[in-house]
Amino acid sequence: MPVPNIPIPEQLKDRPLWRGYVVTYVTFVGRDGVPDFKVIDEKKRRGCLQRGLCGLCGKPLDKVIVFIGGPKCVEQRLFLDPPMHKDCALYAAQVCPYLRDAEAEYSDAPARHLGKDDTVIRDYEDINPQRPDRLAIYYCRSYDMIEGNGTWIAKAGKPTRVDWDVMPQRQTKAAKKDMKYVTISEVLPPEGVAVVQAFAQEVKDGQHASRDYLDVHSALRERLRPFESYLAEHGMTDIDFFTLVILRAMGVSGTDSFLPPTSGRA
Ligand SMILES: [Zn+2]
Repeated sequence: MPVPNIPIPEQLKDRPLWRGYVVTYVTFVGRDGVPDFKVIDEKKRRGCLQRGLCGLCGKPLDKVIVFIGGPKCVEQRLFLDPPMHKDCALYAAQVCPYLRDAEAEYSDAPARHLGKDDTVIRDYEDINPQRPDRLAIYYCRSYDMIEGNGTWIAKAGKPTRVDWDVMPQRQTKAAKKDMKYVTISEVLPPEGVAVVQAFAQEVKDGQHASRDYLDVHSALRERLRPFESYLAEHGMTDIDFFTLVILRAMGVSGTDSFLPPTSGRA
């Protein structure tokens, strides 16, 4: 999935990038220099808690402290993920595939950097592979460190605000049923429909079979680019999402291999 084109907040600008994604302060980076976005560097995470640093940019926290978590975390005010700046958290909420896609799950690809030393606590077994249905941005002014899960976690101060509307909610089965489906011809003009049909034929003929899913996705997206304004008219501002739905409808598989290794939380 291409990286959304969202401006990087000032504090995060000096973080390194990997495949277009910001390598956050707590992201585990292997000895080969390759980040593993699904693994949090425990030493750094604990360092953030102890020293009051933002887990994403690594700089001192502001008065407003933000956590991201599901209903259970919010209710108990307990967060395993480090505290963050508001701007950093809002950026992550819009960019990190795990946060911005309500249907996201952690990829089950094997972790690259496990068991070498004690810096890694989080692996795929430790975390619930399914994203909670709802995720909140939790604002507060303080937190304590308490012992839990065999490590130190944050007990957040009382919230000054809890915002459930920033990150999408997973659709319940009932809501999915009620969703209004539009057909491609309702959204695209005849030339656009022809483009999709031609592409579907190419897929059927196996022309794209040998390509990486990401390439197939970009190829169709580029061809649909001239019709972006039609999509916008129908309230579909996300051409990537539209393209993805079409590819799925075409039976193009490989969503796992196309997910960047950033499907963990940023
Ligand atoms: Zn920050």
